[in-house]
Amino acid sequence: MIIVSACLLGLNTKYDGNANAQALLQKYSALGKFIPVCPEQLGGLPTPRVPVEIIGGTGKDVLNGQCMAQGEQGEVVTSEFILGAKEVIKIVEMVTVTAAILKERSPSCGVNYIYDGSFSHQIKSGQGVTAALLTEHNIPIYSAEELTEERLLELLI
Ligand code: SF4
Repeated sequence: MIIVSACLLGLNTKYDGNANAQALLQKYSALGKFIPVCPEQLGGLPTPRVPVEIIGGTGKDVLNGQCMAQGEQGEVVTSEFILGAKEVIKIVEMVTVTAAILKERSPSCGVNYIYDGSFSHQIKSGQGVTAALLTEHNIPIYSAEELTEERLLELLI
């Protein structure tokens, strides 16, 4: 089974109540091999919710207690982000998960990049909180933006 950021499969889990539907993933969703997850919802945050960025670090730093996940007005949601990541790991431990395909730049799901904490659409290198915890648990993570159909088919075998 493959964990997939729920918004990529067309679920309206995004902070603004919309989705980030990705046609390639939707094309193969009927195979039943994807587990859609939204870690921010699993952590107890509502939808819609305030947009959040990681301030002064990356998802790994959030997990290590070295920085926070915050909304633009200073709303601290670090504990919800960590809880959501841990809930995703519970799913990993329930079923055989071989990979995760995640939404790039998200403070939870970003694989290579996240927004830089300035709320000005600038990005920096680093993983989101859930991406970092999946990596800690040795689950290979892939950015949906980088995934070719050929690579996806290999993951689905
Ligand atoms: Fe999508 Fe992840 Fe953001 Fe949820 S937390 S809306 S799954 S990018």
